[in-house]
Amino acid sequence: MDRALQRRLIEAVARTVIAHADELTALDRQIGDGDHGLNMKRGFEAVLAQIDKIAGQPLPDALRAVGMELIMKVGGASGPLYGTLFVTLGKELPAAPTLADLERSFAKAIDAVKARGKSDVGQKTMLDVLAPVQVALSSSGEGLAARIVSTAAAAAEATIPMKAVRGRASFLGERSVGHMDPGARSSAIMITAIVNESGA
Ligand code: ADP
Ligand code: MG
Repeated sequence: MDRALQRRLIEAVARTVIAHADELTALDRQIGDGDHGLNMKRGFEAVLAQIDKIAGQPLPDALRAVGMELIMKVGGASGPLYGTLFVTLGKELPAAPTLADLERSFAKAIDAVKARGKSDVGQKTMLDVLAPVQVALSSSGEGLAARIVSTAAAAAEATIPMKAVRGRASFLGERSVGHMDPGARSSAIMITAIVNESGA
């Protein structure tokens, strides 16, 4: 992949997450411990601080480096999980991926998150956005970019009526119903940033 585009994509994800930190923290205050935005901001600030080094490498290495940074800096439940997502994408994607590569690698990365989190779709987590977006990647026809963005937004909204069965929010049981999952929202934010910046 073109190194300049690769850098713009990583920067776009980082800047968008940082810009939404307060919103993510507010969501986590409803059903968690109110640190998701802060956690993610810390991780992506560390990525931006090393953007020359990280984005100057071939795509697989760049993604692995982002993942390692998130594992080390984000902390909480989401750090190791998002870290696993990026590291696995780095392992699976070739340097110049096609859409088919992306679809396959994203499926593998989601499986790795499920294994790491002992979690699955339907439990009110980031997986409830990541998995439907992976499915949308394989849909053919015009307007794929717009479909991915709307799928991500709708999937995050769809976590509102869900009851959490994994992570801190599960401690609330029924009281987790009625709030959007913070990790679902951060996933939607990152996916939207990638699509918008890629100009697809
Ligand atoms: P913590 O819950 O440790 O404070 P964060 O607030 O940073 O960590 O992240 C919370 C988010 O992590 C949740 O909103 C959810 O989307 C995601 N999450 C938590 N546990 C799991 C899990 N086992 N599998 C998948 N995602 C999870
Ligand atoms: Mg939290």
